[in-house]
Amino acid sequence: MNDVAAKCWICGDVADTREHRIKRTDIRQVLGEATQQKPLFVHNDDKRNKRVQSTNAKILRGEKDLCARCNNELTQPHDKSWERLSSYLYENWTIILKNGKFRVSKAFPAGAGNGMRNAHLFFAKLLGCAVKEGDVPINITKLANGIKENRPINNFWLSIGATPETETIDSVGRTNLLVTHDNRSGDAVALSQMYTFGEMSVIVEFSISDELLLGNKLSWHPMHGTKLIFLSKFGENQ
Ligand SMILES: [Zn+2]
Repeated sequence: MNDVAAKCWICGDVADTREHRIKRTDIRQVLGEATQQKPLFVHNDDKRNKRVQSTNAKILRGEKDLCARCNNELTQPHDKSWERLSSYLYENWTIILKNGKFRVSKAFPAGAGNGMRNAHLFFAKLLGCAVKEGDVPINITKLANGIKENRPINNFWLSIGATPETETIDSVGRTNLLVTHDNRSGDAVALSQMYTFGEMSVIVEFSISDELLLGNKLSWHPMHGTKLIFLSKFGENQ
């Protein structure tokens, strides 16, 4: 990053806050709180085995790419809904995995539609921040507008499933962005990324047009029903 003040990718104001790359409550849920006596170890492309003594450590947060208002007030309902869904999935994972599906109203008794739309928007924030951090040349205005207007984002899908055996089960993290480019222009046109929360993972997929949908039939979108969500099988042909 250079010294020019970065702009919030959601609203355009000065970006002065960092979003956690992985939500702090998810890290605590799977691994417990990091302390001096019981540190966590972080691995990424730059660092191996970096000791972390707090789940608020800077290495667990991204670049400054959001303003405080967008990172806090605007997206707090989205954060809260993911927190609720994540803890519901975590606490009931054995039975959900056995059934291959879960009923959304169990996670959000006060309103499945709002809860799942907010969770969808939470992952839109994480993905937008990953795009900014990776400097990926793709238009994310649709992600920003969905978040600002609190409505579902076209061509932005989530899939939930068991963490593939190729990943470390007792870890929390995210893969690098998988970017699809247009052959002619070279522009990035579609993205996906996997977030792992212990035994459970979420894959997010975003494309700039309908024709580029990535085609997992068990992917989930708020406009396509919020009663039952079926788990995807990651690591096999989806
Ligand atoms: Zn902002």
